[in-house]
Amino acid sequence: MALIVQKFGGTSVGSPERIRAVAEKVMATHRAGHQVVVVVSAMSGETDRLLQLARAIAAHPAERELDTLLSTGEQVTIALLCMALEEMGQAAQSFTGTQVAITTDSAHTKARIEHIEDHKIRSALESGKIVVVAGFQGVDLHGNITTLGRGGSDTTAVALAAALRADECDIFTDVDGIYTTDPRVESRARRLDRITFEEMLEMASLGAKVLQTRSVEFAMKYNVPVRVLSSFQDGPGTLVTNEENSVEAPRVSGIAFSRNEAKLTMIGVPDHPGIAYSILGPVSEANINVDVILQNISEAGKTDFTFTVDRNEYAQAKDILSAVAQKLEAEDVRGDDHIVKVSVVGVGMRSHAGIAATMFATLGKENINIQMISTSEIKISVVIEEKYLELAVRALHAAFNLDGEAPV
Ligand code: ADP
Ligand code: ASP
Ligand code: MG
Repeated sequence: MALIVQKFGGTSVGSPERIRAVAEKVMATHRAGHQVVVVVSAMSGETDRLLQLARAIAAHPAERELDTLLSTGEQVTIALLCMALEEMGQAAQSFTGTQVAITTDSAHTKARIEHIEDHKIRSALESGKIVVVAGFQGVDLHGNITTLGRGGSDTTAVALAAALRADECDIFTDVDGIYTTDPRVESRARRLDRITFEEMLEMASLGAKVLQTRSVEFAMKYNVPVRVLSSFQDGPGTLVTNEENSVEAPRVSGIAFSRNEAKLTMIGVPDHPGIAYSILGPVSEANINVDVILQNISEAGKTDFTFTVDRNEYAQAKDILSAVAQKLEAEDVRGDDHIVKVSVVGVGMRSHAGIAATMFATLGKENINIQMISTSEIKISVVIEEKYLELAVRALHAAFNLDGEAPV
């Protein structure tokens, strides 16, 4: 008998019929003699609907209340799934994050899981029940409901699998695995049989929303092998696992992209030691994440300084920068929120030269101007104009032999 955690995303529980189908799937695993802990997301579109409701009331709703609101989406699906299971004659019990006691820090809307209490879940499992846990939510030490950031149900599932020392963690979604790039942008994208934790971590943090970044961090830290599968059709899916288990790595395993980007430039800022801190310090104090950074060579003691931020923090970052520019007596602040970031990822880069050259040549051939570049050991990212996103992804996908058959 194994203990299996199965997570179903929004589309997979998007209607009463889909919820019944999930109940059947979960029951089949239980009937095969396993203990099953199910994690569900809110019904598709529900979290967005709740966010819109909040925004219709307040431009900047209190984050504590936002979490109380957003967590209701998952409370609906845990109850409905348990009802469906009971209708099929299967004993089941639902748990909200608070009921399990998934404790988190108090960073509302982006809380981190700190501890998972397992005794209630274990005793429900031992009494033969299927356990259904609300994804995306937790509770802080003061009893406030928290949420884990968009896509957070993935993290609930992996964290539960780690805490319960589960034998398997299956993430059921609306695609049948992890692809070389988002199959919605490149139809020639290929499903990967395996991907390493490290590569998946880069892919997720660079924009591939198939798994939340933190879920991959958890999986890597606690060595939980995660399988991404379709909830609509049977198949092997993709195993996210250690590098040792992975076959000879290709140069590039995948292409990730993020539309959620904006850039800001301070023009003609006096160039002296400490300037980067004077500019970025106030931005980070406002809890705004800075990603790619570029500083030009200075001319006549002045330089230009550019960096990227999340598009939803662009307006706030621009206000902060304008105030800083005045203080530093910089010439101007310019911004552009029609940029995107495209990245090639692969552990094979460590042992292959020329990836950057191929990437830049490919974009050049398509007449796509590269505005910024950032690299790490296993990825190269470029910032380009938004309108070239699809073209860039497809051109790079072909250039790195990711189309069709696996490269040899
Ligand atoms: P769920 O609601 O099940 O959590 P998500 O919408 O969060 O599902 O994630 C699945 C989606 O991720 C897919 O529909 C796909 O468009 C997108 N995606 C982005 N990059 C990839 C990739 N490399 N492989 C597979 N899917 C990807
Ligand atoms: N319902 C939440 C969201 O839409 C969490 C999740 O689906 O993972 O982001
Ligand atoms: Mg998701």
